[in-house]
Amino acid sequence: MNGEVQSLTLNLIGPCTFLVFAVAFLWAWVISAERHYLLLIAACCLLASVGGIFRLVVGWPSDVGLYIFISSSFYIGATLAGCEGILRRYGHRIGVGAALLIIVASAGLTLYFLYVQPSFVARVYTQNFIPGAIFLYTALRLVRLARASYSERAVFWILLLFAIQFFPRTVVTLTMVADPVVGNFSGTVFWQALQLTNAVLGTALLLAILVAELSEMIDRLQIERDVDRLTGVLNRRGFEDRAEKILEQGPERAFALILIDIDHFKRVNDTFGHAAGDDVLRGLGVLMQSNARKAEILGRIGGEEFAILMPDGNREGARMVVMRLQRAIAAAEFGLPEHAPSIAVSFGIAVRQPNEPYLACFKRADMALYKAKDGGRKKAVFAGE
Ligand code: GH3
Ligand code: MG
Ligand code: MG
Repeated sequence: MNGEVQSLTLNLIGPCTFLVFAVAFLWAWVISAERHYLLLIAACCLLASVGGIFRLVVGWPSDVGLYIFISSSFYIGATLAGCEGILRRYGHRIGVGAALLIIVASAGLTLYFLYVQPSFVARVYTQNFIPGAIFLYTALRLVRLARASYSERAVFWILLLFAIQFFPRTVVTLTMVADPVVGNFSGTVFWQALQLTNAVLGTALLLAILVAELSEMIDRLQIERDVDRLTGVLNRRGFEDRAEKILEQGPERAFALILIDIDHFKRVNDTFGHAAGDDVLRGLGVLMQSNARKAEILGRIGGEEFAILMPDGNREGARMVVMRLQRAIAAAEFGLPEHAPSIAVSFGIAVRQPNEPYLACFKRADMALYKAKDGGRKKAVFAGE
């Protein structure tokens, strides 16, 4: 292959990669359009790509200073769009004012070292230290990610590494540039190192952001799948999944299961309307959450039926939980009119027997609940009583 073609092909890898990422982030934005920061990151990739392609257009504009100025403008634009996008993902921002100030300062210094006081070294420092500082500022604002999920941690550490490398890389590789003539510039150690770090760390950073975005999307879907929208506690599927996980911890793993069913709930709907019924369900969900201990698993397993799974729970522990809930329910108002009869619930409770499957334990609790209803409601019955 002809050397020039080979060089062009190699130089196109970077811009094409950024173009692919631009499309990927645009795609992610189409899927969740409320996440505007994805557009900013897509814009960053697009600017980096166009900037790279622009560098390959030899001979235009003929003024070398202008050529350098336009080329560096693409990179400062890409840096600002990318950092603003990353910051917004976590609820921060650089802001329009600060961004404009950076653009003016960067453009002013570049033009100054090109035309007023020409200095190759000072200009290259400007063009590398300003983006480096913007990335470093972004990374430092997100220090808390160092303790977040694995994918968020990856975003933080790659971002920090990417930010820091701007400084030593520029200083070290610039001393190796003998003749800063634009025509030879692409072959210098400085330029090759810049290309390599941009390609490797830039791509790694974009990939990490995409993965973090994806894993957040999966988490969101999982929550939507497992949580009951009306009450905020787990739905039946989520509750049973958690229960199965507890059981997987061994046949001896103890737990207590408390089933809760609202008494004469149909009357609430019939008298005050379905919306008022929903308010009662929502209220009970809130009440259960505010009274629960951290380890307890709460679920809405049917229309007006709730359940609490207490890992390691025994009879005495379950009795305490039931009494706490009975007191809280008696004191709650649930948004019903003053003359409305007070809301009451029945409890059916079972403590897991050794090796007992979840379903068998559930059936015993359900039988106990049936007995509580049969025995006049507003009471708690233990399985086997
Ligand atoms: P019992 O004391 O025997 O439990 O009587 P009940 O009226 O509570 O029980 P029943 O099973 O006859 O009625 C349950 C009612 O719960 C019927 C249904 O319309 C209502 N329901 C189920 N899901 C919802 C819901 O999401 N919102 C509202 N408002 N009502 C619901
Ligand atoms: Mg029921
Ligand atoms: Mg009921």
